[in-house]
Amino acid sequence: MICNDDQLAIRDLARRFARDKLAPQYQARDKSGVLDRALLREMGQLGLMGVDLPEAVGGLGAPGVTTGIIAEELAAPQLADYWIPRMISGETLMGVCVTEPSSGSDAGSMKLRCRRDGDSYVLDGEKTSITFADCADAFIVFARTGAPDSGAAGITALIVPADAPGVARTRFNDVGSHIIGRGSVFFEGVRVPVENRLGGENQGFTHVMRGFDFSRALISLQCVGCAQASLDEAWDYTKTRTAFNAPIASYQGVTFPLVEGDSQIAAIRQLSYHAIALRDAGLPHTAEAAMVKWMGPKTAFDVIHQCLLTFGHYGWSMDLPHQQRMRDVMGLEIGDGTAGIMKLIVARERVGRVAVQYGKR
Ligand SMILES: Cc1cc2nc3c(=O)[nH]c(=O)nc-3n(C[C@H](O)[C@H](O)[C@H](O)COP(=O)(O)OP(=O)(O)OC[C@H]3O[C@@H](n4cnc5c(N)ncnc54)[C@H](O)[C@@H]3O)c2cc1C
Repeated sequence: MICNDDQLAIRDLARRFARDKLAPQYQARDKSGVLDRALLREMGQLGLMGVDLPEAVGGLGAPGVTTGIIAEELAAPQLADYWIPRMISGETLMGVCVTEPSSGSDAGSMKLRCRRDGDSYVLDGEKTSITFADCADAFIVFARTGAPDSGAAGITALIVPADAPGVARTRFNDVGSHIIGRGSVFFEGVRVPVENRLGGENQGFTHVMRGFDFSRALISLQCVGCAQASLDEAWDYTKTRTAFNAPIASYQGVTFPLVEGDSQIAAIRQLSYHAIALRDAGLPHTAEAAMVKWMGPKTAFDVIHQCLLTFGHYGWSMDLPHQQRMRDVMGLEIGDGTAGIMKLIVARERVGRVAVQYGKR
């Protein structure tokens, strides 16, 4: 990835922050399962949040590629006038509520009811599998304002403060990503003003789909960052660990799998940045984002696994970070869309809607 001077400066800042502030407590935070809000605020103060948003609301107005650089370097934890500055400063955490107990991949069939009542919308139903469910300060909620059979054309997006009367939330006991957590959010007669609507009524689905093309490339870069950290540690280890009177770096059975991983991760990194650069240029990038979203987490998982094995019996310890990285990237194989759905998206981009002949609702 070729960076300009501003991007190089932000990359160095993100790298230093990840090395000095995130890495030392990486495993301890996983054990505690508590999101460190002070760290988020610090990221906000350093200008590592919302860099691609306009300067008028506190962002840097930087290209999306810059956000990609930060996502890769941190490889972790990672709208109106009121909310965006608070999100950028790290004061406010926003969850995104799309998935429901009966619909995930088929998000267009969501049921959460949203009815207009004067100057308000009233929400009833459940969202599930929501990142930050129990610690978010607000949620972007996608809900059905159209008829039950209106599909993707009857969905509206609203900002709902987490402390609004009628909101309740839970936390799941997950395999990984313990720091950010995941859970259900329940809405019972939750009333929000019409001004909290994002975009037009019944047009929320277009928003969520456009956002995915960006977030999928960023997720891939987070996985690239995790895998690269394990690769760098494994390469170092091969130089110091000896077996049969030689460093294990002298055995091609050790180095070639690491070379394969390094090569795959380098290729995925480039395609991820390419997807974001296409977005910055206003060009179609749906297929590229879907490609890296399925390849990034899966390849990162396999590569980190190989790195764990490179450490021999030492690798099979909770004290080393590889197991945590594997658990964290595995969740990203599902979140924001599974590999199966990503491949459907790429096929649809290539041959049109014939690639997605769904059953009748
Ligand atoms: C770590 C994590 C974080 C998440 N964060 C959020 C969040 O913040 N907000 C949110 O709204 N959701 C979130 N999710 C939910 C996630 O987006 C959904 O789990 C995902 O979209 C899949 O939906 P599902 O689990 O209902 O699986 P289903 O849709 O039930 O699919 C089950 C299986 O069938 C396959 N499948 C389904 N349809 C097809 C098809 N047509 N062709 C081929 N294969 C198919 C899928 O690939 C999958 O393997 C998160 C999930 C995880 C694991």
